[in-house]
Amino acid sequence: MIDPFGRHITYLRVSVTDRCDFRCVYCMSEDMTFLPKRDVLSLEELDRLCSVFIRLGVKKLRLTGGEPLVRKNVMSLFRGLSRHLDSGQLEELTVTTNGSQLHRFADELRDCGVRRVNVSIDTLDAEKFHRITRWGRLEQVMRGLDAAAAAGLEIKLNVVALRGVNDHELGDMLQWAGDRSWDMTIIEVMPMGDIGGEMRIDQYLPVSMVRAELEKRFTLTDIDYKTGGPARYVRVEETGRRLGFITPLTHNFCESCNRVRLTCTGTLYMCLGQEDAADLRTPLRRSESDEAVMEAIDEAIARKPKGHDFVIDRRRRGPSVSRHMSHTGG
Ligand code: SAM
Ligand code: SF4
Repeated sequence: MIDPFGRHITYLRVSVTDRCDFRCVYCMSEDMTFLPKRDVLSLEELDRLCSVFIRLGVKKLRLTGGEPLVRKNVMSLFRGLSRHLDSGQLEELTVTTNGSQLHRFADELRDCGVRRVNVSIDTLDAEKFHRITRWGRLEQVMRGLDAAAAAGLEIKLNVVALRGVNDHELGDMLQWAGDRSWDMTIIEVMPMGDIGGEMRIDQYLPVSMVRAELEKRFTLTDIDYKTGGPARYVRVEETGRRLGFITPLTHNFCESCNRVRLTCTGTLYMCLGQEDAADLRTPLRRSESDEAVMEAIDEAIARKPKGHDFVIDRRRRGPSVSRHMSHTGG
């Protein structure tokens, strides 16, 4: 799959459910309405669709959500997809999770060929954690992290930088992660989805400011580590670990974009920051052969836009992309 700008599409992120056991303030409103079950692809359909993408050249597959590990029976999807690792067609199968179920699944993930997990955690303070996630318990995520480490999974922490919430804690978190040999990525709040009352403009903290603050304490050396994603990486000399910065609002990362995103309803988004999408569920359900869906994917890739245009609208104070991150998968 090569798009009109010559970019090879080798990375697919799949949101396997829009549901979640947390209600992070920047991600969802507390009374989220979730999709009706009939709209959501079955695990068999997800496997079939992912397998088509792999046949078309996807080398790296990340399952995300919502919270992927709360989907019933999700391990059967991991197990099924691991056959593509065995065959060598797929190079990497990974997961982004809030960590709440990791204590249950860490060993099985490893057994299914998963080697790395991204775990989202924005603070090490239990009370603050509860305030950010509304429904989450830090202690449970810590148990999950311990289980993942014990299972031999490589861990990267995803931390959303929130002005006035965790900005003074990021240095301690970086040290804490480094002490455990974990990488960390700091993410700017993106203007996605109605989150009910919270004003994103107030949460927004440019990572350039975060970096400047961290540099008072750590030596950060730019490195040429590229994943094709939106993160720019530095090495933290004091810990020897990588630190990534995701700056969708202040930086253009689109020229090296190698990815597309699939929702749990089978909608393919060619860009996280644009509304254009392709329905793959209809061709998938229409026929048992994969021809129609392959054609729909080809057509969609031919429309992949050059870049995104996120803006936090200061007058409207509304999101510039109306769908939630939990729908497209972060
Ligand atoms: N539930 C899983 C988790 O939290 O890791 C996977 C899905 S979550 C949508 C993926 C990532 O997106 C998380 O790291 C989360 O912090 C991030 N995220 C969610 N909403 C965001 C927003 N509005 N701006 C920036 N990052 C966001
Ligand atoms: Fe759930 Fe992840 Fe969104 Fe938090 S960021 S509400 S854990 S999907």
